[in-house]
Amino acid sequence: MSEPKIIAIANQKGGVGKTTSTLNLGAALADARHRTILIDLDPQGNASTGLGIDTERREITSYDLLGGQAELTQAALSTDVDNLRIVPSTPDLSSADIDFSRSTDRTRLLRKVLRNGADADIVLIDCPPALGLLTVNAMVAADAVLVPLQAEFYALEGLSQLLLTVRQIRQSANPNLRVNGVLLTMSDSRNNLSQQVEADARATLGDLVYRTTIPRNVRVSEAPSHGKPVVHYDPASKGGVAYQAFAKEFMQRLSLSTQREAVNG
Ligand code: ADP
Ligand code: MG
Repeated sequence: MSEPKIIAIANQKGGVGKTTSTLNLGAALADARHRTILIDLDPQGNASTGLGIDTERREITSYDLLGGQAELTQAALSTDVDNLRIVPSTPDLSSADIDFSRSTDRTRLLRKVLRNGADADIVLIDCPPALGLLTVNAMVAADAVLVPLQAEFYALEGLSQLLLTVRQIRQSANPNLRVNGVLLTMSDSRNNLSQQVEADARATLGDLVYRTTIPRNVRVSEAPSHGKPVVHYDPASKGGVAYQAFAKEFMQRLSLSTQREAVNG
């Protein structure tokens, strides 16, 4: 059992592309032969649905991981994508904040499970849209946080709040926590405000912002209903190309090999 790299995908705003980015990055990592486990830490279960995991298959969930009722190897379900597994979630995860509030180790529940070794190279944690106990658990467990950012008026204010949380966690439970980067999502080149916010983000945050920007693209939003991330549903679409470029940049940042699986036949 090796020590996987653990990345939390977080932003307290909903609908900014956390789940979409987690799924596409996960699939691209798996295609490059990195054994990847996604953890669906959102009670809405969109990451699970987006990989075609029916609700009947969600018997062992991320709630069981947090509660210590299951180990990672038991909880991780295989998917249609080689090298990609997922720990699904169900709506009962929404009571985690209350259910685990009395536990003395309540911010380290996920860390205890993930730092126990895993037969994976990478673990990606898809966080819920809040900075509550679930996201804190993800950040306490993680090596780094990846922040999808939708370029709109309040985006940078929200980001400061998120970075403050990262700093607090670094000062307390996880001194090694880093910010992996900021990914600009759902970009619209015809929208002046969106372009201005992107320029501001790059000016303020410099190299922390990924060079690749993900455009708004209907193929990206169609893909989940087919149980596939867009990099598999329509790899040649604008969204598919952008997510592959982002994944390559991500792998380079982590010094991971970007060589893809040989296609047979
Ligand atoms: P979050 O996980 O942050 O709540 P999602 O990844 O679920 O956000 O994205 C919110 C919605 O926007 C989803 O319906 C998703 O399919 C859609 N979406 C995400 N990225 C794009 C994109 N680049 N182009 C078009 N639609 C997108
Ligand atoms: Mg989501």
